[in-house]
Amino acid sequence: MRAIYAVGNWKMNKSGRESATYIETLAPLVKNSPARVLLAAPFTAIGAAAAAAKDTSLSIGAQNIHPARDGAFTGEISALMLKEAGASFVLVGHSERRRLFGESDEFIREKVVRCLQSDLLPILCIGETESEREGHKTRAVLARQIESALHGVPKEEALKIALAYEPVWAIGTGKTASAETVEETHALCRSILDELLGKKSGEKISILYGGSVKPDHISQLLAKREVDGVLVGGAALDPHSFAQIVMNCKK
Ligand code: PEP
Repeated sequence: MRAIYAVGNWKMNKSGRESATYIETLAPLVKNSPARVLLAAPFTAIGAAAAAAKDTSLSIGAQNIHPARDGAFTGEISALMLKEAGASFVLVGHSERRRLFGESDEFIREKVVRCLQSDLLPILCIGETESEREGHKTRAVLARQIESALHGVPKEEALKIALAYEPVWAIGTGKTASAETVEETHALCRSILDELLGKKSGEKISILYGGSVKPDHISQLLAKREVDGVLVGGAALDPHSFAQIVMNCKK
């Protein structure tokens, strides 16, 4: 059985103090969550968030990582630093990182490898733009993103990742992909994973959907066989709205 995840991505929001207050509100609301609840905090809030989440079922992670162990990389952060702060997972290849910060497929591959070597769960984010979808390039784009991120990664390691399908046109736009489109595209991702890692590999990897997820359509998404949870930006900023999403992540 694949793990079900409800992941909140706070992006560049919430100080350490705000994170702690958020977690104190969220934790009791999601005590009996049907999904694993993960919060991707800004670097400076990871420590405070992890301390606040200590006796709860919530896990804290990061929104980015540098692939090097250490060195002259001003402004960057290493796996060791994240782990020491209390992170257990990392969002890798978010479309905002790819688009706004020019992250290449190769750089994203290095980050996936570093996470796996450091016992941090990489949540690999992939997704096509609107013009790529309209130009029937979705399969080619997703295949390139998945294959390059896992290039050279041994199968048993590759199976440890989680995938987040986040169509770029749906992130922060209010335009959610229909449950049917999500189902179809997750199946496509699984076929790409099968081709890359061997038959039935795709069914072993959790695939989450991200893109303007709101409490009112979460049940429709989770009703689909191929959907193993959600990655939520805007609607995860408020603990009450995120709690509603989490508690509806039922399979
Ligand atoms: C995201 O940040 O990954 C995301 C999906 O954002 P939003 O839910 O705001 O579209």
